[in-house]
Amino acid sequence: MKRATVILLFLLIASVFSACAPKSVDSTVIAMNTICTQTVYADYEVIAGAEQILFETESEFSKYIESSEIYEINENAGHFVAVSKETYDVLKRSVQLAEITGGAFDPTVGKIVDAWDFTNEPDVPAEDEILKLIQGVGYDKIEFDEDSLSVKIAQNQTIDLGAVIKGYAGDELLNYYLEQDVPGGLLNLGGNMSAFGDKQGEPFVVGIRDPLGEASEYFCTAELTDVSLVTSGAYERFFEQDGIVYHHIIDPKTGYPASSDILSVSILSEDGMLADALSTAVFVLGSEQGLKLVETQGAQALLVLDDNTVVATDGFWERTNLQIVGDKYVKAS
Ligand code: AMP
Ligand code: MG
Repeated sequence: MKRATVILLFLLIASVFSACAPKSVDSTVIAMNTICTQTVYADYEVIAGAEQILFETESEFSKYIESSEIYEINENAGHFVAVSKETYDVLKRSVQLAEITGGAFDPTVGKIVDAWDFTNEPDVPAEDEILKLIQGVGYDKIEFDEDSLSVKIAQNQTIDLGAVIKGYAGDELLNYYLEQDVPGGLLNLGGNMSAFGDKQGEPFVVGIRDPLGEASEYFCTAELTDVSLVTSGAYERFFEQDGIVYHHIIDPKTGYPASSDILSVSILSEDGMLADALSTAVFVLGSEQGLKLVETQGAQALLVLDDNTVVATDGFWERTNLQIVGDKYVKAS
């Protein structure tokens, strides 16, 4: 074959392959009170289906949307309310996760969260109000009736699924993309990241936010392959009053923002809802108890501690090829 023909053939084959290589499409929507971005190797029509799942998840589980089933349960506290199988299962799982965490994650913190009002006009509630509202906290008071798919909370309770619903939504999206035979994608639901498949043969690489830096700053990079990475930190929602910073992760035992040795916690697991519950719970529990809990659940953790050290389980380092960037934080010895 002549040299020119070979080159032409090569160019032809290369152009056929590049035409076949799927392109990624980006999507950004606001759902569940947060920015949800996706980079997915699929046509936009497929991604639009995923956006719809995000909106539906919010409509079903937000305690602020009057047509949601969670709103209805909260409005009818003290009475059984019939719900969809999906809501029933999510609530049942939330209670199981609360049990696993010894109540450090507790979906019945709703009234306390409302009293602090982190999303609208935050204010430190009066001490006696917190003491009163804390009486309603207790996941073990939620009653389930499987035959009628009904749920009842105690009269002084309000459900808040803010600590797990993004993790659940991530799992739903992964299932959806799997069904659609999509080869790869990276989802970021307000800091909850999930990666599936690969980025044209390469793993997805993400930066984990610097808990003491600006929103765009990260302190490490991690490779993600078919796994979710969920981070909780005090920087997500907070306000300052009389020189004190109050953040949105509540210790269900005190009713006040949790105070531990942790600045941020990232949990790695194939189970996004578990990772989300654990991220909140470990933040409340602190590093010692938190790491023990994570180990019992077969998950991996990365903690940034308040002495600027980074602690991660062995599996976290290995599985993500974790690299600390800069010299602000050091690996704990
Ligand atoms: P996350 O960002 O996943 O840690 O979840 C925090 C959100 O969950 C808050 O904005 C509250 O709505 C709610 N929340 C705060 N503290 C707790 C807690 N200890 N258990 C359950 N939900 C909580
Ligand atoms: Mg969480």
